[in-house]
Amino acid sequence: MAKKQFKSESKRLLNLMINSIYTHKEIFLRELISNASDAIDKSYYLYLTDKDLIFNKDDFYIRITPNEEERTLTVSDTGIGMSKEELDSNLGIIAKSGSFDFKEENELKEGIDIIGQFGVGFYSAFMVAEKVTVISKKEGSDKAYKWESSGVDGYTITPCEKEKSGTDVILKIKPSTEDEDYDEFLDPYNLKSLVKTYSDFIKYPIKMMMKKRRLKEGSENDYEDYYEDEILNSMVPIWRKNKSELKEEDYEKFYREKHFGFEKPLKYIHVSTEGVVSYNAILYIPSRVPFDYYTKEYEKGLELYSNGVMIMKKCSELLPDYFGFVQGLVDSPDFSLNISREMLQHDRQLQFVAKKLNEKIKSELLSMLKDERETYEKFYKQFGRTLKYGIYTDWGLNKETLQDLIMFYSSHEKKPVTLDEYVSRMKEDQKNIYYATGESVDMLSKLPQAELIADKGYEILYFTDEIDEFAIKVLMTYKDKEFKNISSSDLDIGGGDDKAEFKEGDKDLFAFMKEALGDKVKEVRASKRLKTHPVCLATEGEVSIEMEKVLKAMPIADKPADIHAEKILEINTSHQIYEKLKDAYANDREKLKKYSNVLFNQALLIEGLTIDDPVQYANDVYELI
Ligand code: ADP
Repeated sequence: MAKKQFKSESKRLLNLMINSIYTHKEIFLRELISNASDAIDKSYYLYLTDKDLIFNKDDFYIRITPNEEERTLTVSDTGIGMSKEELDSNLGIIAKSGSFDFKEENELKEGIDIIGQFGVGFYSAFMVAEKVTVISKKEGSDKAYKWESSGVDGYTITPCEKEKSGTDVILKIKPSTEDEDYDEFLDPYNLKSLVKTYSDFIKYPIKMMMKKRRLKEGSENDYEDYYEDEILNSMVPIWRKNKSELKEEDYEKFYREKHFGFEKPLKYIHVSTEGVVSYNAILYIPSRVPFDYYTKEYEKGLELYSNGVMIMKKCSELLPDYFGFVQGLVDSPDFSLNISREMLQHDRQLQFVAKKLNEKIKSELLSMLKDERETYEKFYKQFGRTLKYGIYTDWGLNKETLQDLIMFYSSHEKKPVTLDEYVSRMKEDQKNIYYATGESVDMLSKLPQAELIADKGYEILYFTDEIDEFAIKVLMTYKDKEFKNISSSDLDIGGGDDKAEFKEGDKDLFAFMKEALGDKVKEVRASKRLKTHPVCLATEGEVSIEMEKVLKAMPIADKPADIHAEKILEINTSHQIYEKLKDAYANDREKLKKYSNVLFNQALLIEGLTIDDPVQYANDVYELI
C-alpha cells in the first residue's frame, strides 16, 4: 500500500523529533496523556448532554500499558476517537503550522525551543519511539482504523478492528544506546512517577496494571506475584484544590501541562469564590508575548468548565481584548453545560464572571506595579502595547480601567513612569503633561523642541510606540491635566519669563520664507521654545507629525486622503543663523530661498521624516557651502 507523505513542515518537525537531543524526552508521555484527556473531555461532554446515551462515569479513563518483551508502551483512552479522515488530517499535519519555519542549519538547536514552546504534542512520541501506531475508533462509528508511521518516510492508514470507541497510541520504544536510556519508558515505576510529575491533575483516572507481591494464601513465607490496577494520578483538578495545599511549582507544572506557555509564567492568580455565582479560576500572565499574539491567528480566551466538565477550550467572551494575553480557566457549577457559542454573550452568569475576572486581573496588575516594580516593568515591556490599544479602541470606553496601568519612558527618570507618578511630581507652575513623539528615546532626548521645557525643569514623556499618541488623544486628560505634544504650536508654558526674551523677528522675512516654501508649511515664525538650536518644526491642530507618519503607513484603502500635520517652521531669532537670514533678505533673495529650503529639510530630518527631493536638497547644500 502506498505511503502517504507528511506535509513538508511536519516532516521537518518529525525529523527533529527523531534526532532530538532534547533533554526532557519524557514529556512525550504528558503530551499523549493530555491528548487522551482532551479526547475524553469531548466524549464525556457528549454523554452528559445527549439524553439518548447512557452515561457511566467509570467508562472514562486512560490506561498506560508497558510491555517489556515487545518494547512497546501503549497509551489508551476511551475518548471521542478519530475517523479515517481525522487520523489523516490530525496526525498528518501540524495544526499550528506557520510557527515552524525554522532555518535548516539551525534545525536541531531551534528545535529544542520549538519542543518547549509549542508543545508539539503527538509528534513528541518520535523522541522515544522508532515506530508509532495509532488505533482509533470514532464515537458513534462502527469502523476502526490503524495509522502507522516509522518516521519521515510517511504513514499508512488501514482498516482494523477495535471493540470500543477511543484511541490506542502504541509506541515501539527505541533501543537504548550508550548515551541514551530508553528502557526507563518501559519501567512501570518510572512511568508511574512521570505521571505523578506531569499529569497528576488530569481529571480522569490514569490506570496501569502494577505488579505486586503478596504472601501466598495459607503460607507464612511463600510469596507470589500478582497484578492490580492502580490509579496513578490524584485526579483532583488543581483549581478545585485549596490554595494552601498548592505550591508555586504546582501552578507552573499545570501551566506547562496545559500548554499555556513555555516559560515560567510571570504571575498566577487563583480565585475561588462563593456567592451569587460561585466559581474557581486559575489565571496566568505569561512572561512573554506569544509568537502569534499580534496576528489574526491568535485566539484569546479561557477554558470554560461547568462543574469540572470542559465545555470550551477558548471562551473569548471571558476576556477583554486588552487582557487577551491572560491564559487559564474558569469552572463554575452555575455555568450551563448546554451553553452554546451563540448564547455566550447573553449568558448572565458568564458575563458576571467575566467582569469579576477583569477586575481581578486589573487589581493584580496594580499591586504588581506597586509591590513588584521590576516584574511589572517586565510585564509592561511585553504587553504594554495591548493596554494602550485597549485605551484607544472602543472610543475610550476602557480608559478608566487602563490609564493607571500604562507607562512611558521619562526624560527625568530615564525609565518608564506611570501617569500618576508624573502628575504627582509636576512643577508648581506646570499646567500640562508634556510628551514628545519619535522613533527612539535616544532621538527624542535630542529634539530641539524640548529645550525650553527641559529648561523649565518639566518632565517629558517619550512616546516611541506608534499607538502612544493615539491612546493619549483618547485619554485627553489624566487627573484633569491635559497632554501636550512639545511640538504643538501652543505649549502653554507656565510663568511668563520666557516671553521677556522672546523676539518676534522680522515679519516680512518670515512671510517671504513661507512664500518660498509654499504648501509645505503653514507658517514660518519665531520660536519661543528653542534655545540653542536654529530651527524646528511645530504643529498646529490635532494631527502631530508622528500621527501623520503612522496614518500614512496604515494599509487601509479608504483612509482620508489628506491627513497631514499642519507644520510650522520655527526659527530661533537668537541664533546666528537668524542674522544670516536677515542679511540674505536684505541682499540676496535667491539665496534666502535656498536657505529656507535647507532649513526646512533639516527640520524634517531632525523629526525623522523623509525629504521630498533629496537631490535638490543636496544641491542646495553644496551650493551654499
Ligand atoms: P494538539 O493536541 O496540540 O492539537 P497534537 O499533535 O498533539 O496537537 O494532536 C493533533 C490532533 O490530533 C489533536 O488536536 C486531536 O484532534 C487529535 N488527537 C491526538 N491524540 C488524540 C487522541 N488520543 N484521541 C483523539 N484525538 C486525538
